[in-house]
Order: sequence, then structure tokens, then C-alpha cells
Amino acid sequence: MEEVTLLSPAKINFFLEVLGKREDGYHEVRTALALIDLCDEVHLQRRTSGLEVKCSDPRAPQGPANLAYQAAELFFHARGLGGIGLTIFIQKRIPVAGGLGGGSSNAAATLWGLNQLFDLRLSREELQKLGARLGSDVPFFLTEGVALAEGRGDLLTPLPPLPPLWVVLVNPGLEVSTAWAFSKLKMGLTSPDPDINIIDLMCRGGFPAILARAANSLEAPVFECYPILGELKQRFLSWGARPALMTGSGPTVFGAFPDEGIARACRDYFSMGGYFTALCRTLDHNPIFKGWKGG
Ligand code: ATP
Repeated sequence: MEEVTLLSPAKINFFLEVLGKREDGYHEVRTALALIDLCDEVHLQRRTSGLEVKCSDPRAPQGPANLAYQAAELFFHARGLGGIGLTIFIQKRIPVAGGLGGGSSNAAATLWGLNQLFDLRLSREELQKLGARLGSDVPFFLTEGVALAEGRGDLLTPLPPLPPLWVVLVNPGLEVSTAWAFSKLKMGLTSPDPDINIIDLMCRGGFPAILARAANSLEAPVFECYPILGELKQRFLSWGARPALMTGSGPTVFGAFPDEGIARACRDYFSMGGYFTALCRTLDHNPIFKGWKGG
């Protein structure tokens, strides 16, 4: 195979709890993540030599700082494939630095795509281990698409699929750094003391039980500095969205709806405010695993 193109989906966090600061400096988190059908396209093409990344969105890095570049470098190094040439082209549709995991998703798609391109048949678990070295969200993008992530965010437990939902995204274009959002949380050194068992909730109470607990601990500090994000959440709630939450460390806020008509009307309402908006669906499979155009 000479080339492959992969759909690289965004994620939303429908639950995110920061349990404390760990002795290694990372935060201990417990978060439930789901893939949605807002996708970048990652195109991988073999060439005679050199590694090159081009990206349609200038806000994402073009060269070695791009997570897709780092994923390819790591993959080649781990498999002893020095000297192989590759061009990566990323058509961005996921807003950059939006809390939607676009960079991590592109890295995961690159790992899976290279596995196909070189017919190496590494398991998903092996690729997840490689991906964890690039970022704690990367392994999630190599799962079926709904999971609980614990520890630094890289200890994954699959969760049952979500019911089909319409998800409206609104991104007012602010820059919120993930490290800054975590630094605003006031907490001491703690060890996790789980009082909510998401797996029990999902398996016994199903999705309605999760919806009742949907929350994001990063909302309070981020909303304090960026009140517009809290307002967007309130507007989603008045449209009947359940849940209405900030995803990750923001700034994207989303609302979920069972009804397509209301979701469309809500998306149109926010579009009129001049924000980036998208109307998406929850996914019951991971589109990364369906790479196409191999030739
Ligand atoms: P985080 O993992 O930091 O929570 P996010 O989901 O908010 O990320 P991303 O779109 O992944 O948002 O961008 C985070 C940072 O990663 C940005 O500063 C961006 O410059 C950098 N980055 C590196 N590679 C990529 C990529 N392929 N696509 C988007 N951003 C990338």
C-alpha cells in the first residue's frame, strides 16, 4: 500500500473530575469520553525519504511540533524503520486547542494508518502503549469510542455505547491552555478516593444515570476567567440540552439533544452569534479503524 486516508474524530468529555495532584506532578483525573462525528482527515503517503507534515489550519503546527509528526517518528523508531519517507497531510475540521482532542486524534490516526501502510499488524493495545508516550488522550482514540479514563487519563475502561444523540458544539474562539486550567484548580496532594463509580452507573443505571451526574470540575475556574463560557452553558440549558457542558479544559461548550430538530435550531441560534458551531452525532464505532483509499 502506498497511501491511506483516515477519518480522525473529535471527542467530548461528558464527565470530568479532577481528583487531586499526584506526586509525579500530573493530576489524577476520572473522565468519561465519547467520540463524535466531527472529523479531520489524515492522509499518509509514502515517499522516498524525509518526514513532512502539512496541515490545512495554520493554528496547528506544520512541522515536528505536530503530534502527527511525533507519532510517525515514534512509530518508525519503535519498529526500526529508519530512513522511511512519509508525507502527512491533515485536513482540519476540529477547532485547534478546543478541548476536542484534535491533535491526539490525529496522532492516533497516524499510528493506526502507519500500521496499515506497512502491514505490521500491531494490536490496538500495542499502539495505545506507543500513543501514551505522546499524550494521555491518545490511547482513547484507539478504543471503540466510549471509555472511562483514569490516572493521568491513560488508564482506560470501555463503557457501553451512548444512545444516539445530537451534539451541538459552540466555540467562541478563546484560547484556554489545558495546563493553565489545571493550575487554577486549588487542591493539595491527594490520592484518589472514588465516590462515584461511573462503570456501575453506566452498567446499572445506563445513560440517564450518567446524565444526572454530568459535570466538569474545570468549569468553575475556567468560567471564572471567561464568563462567556458559563453564559453559553446557561443558554444551552435553556434550549433543553442535557447535558450542557464544557468539554475538557474548554473553550468548546456542547449541548446534547435526543431530537434533531431542536439540535438544528439551537445550532442555528448560536451560529447567528458569529461563533464556530457544529452539529454532530455521537458515534457507536471508531472511524479511525476504517482507513480508506489505500492504493
Ligand atoms: P489538549 O490535549 O491540550 O487538551 P485540545 O483538545 O484542547 O488539546 P488540540 O487541537 O489537540 O486541542 O490542540 C492542543 C495543542 O496541540 C495546540 O496548541 C496545537 O498547537 C498543538 N497541536 C499539535 N499537533 C496538532 C494537530 N495535529 N492538530 C491540532 N493541534 C495540534
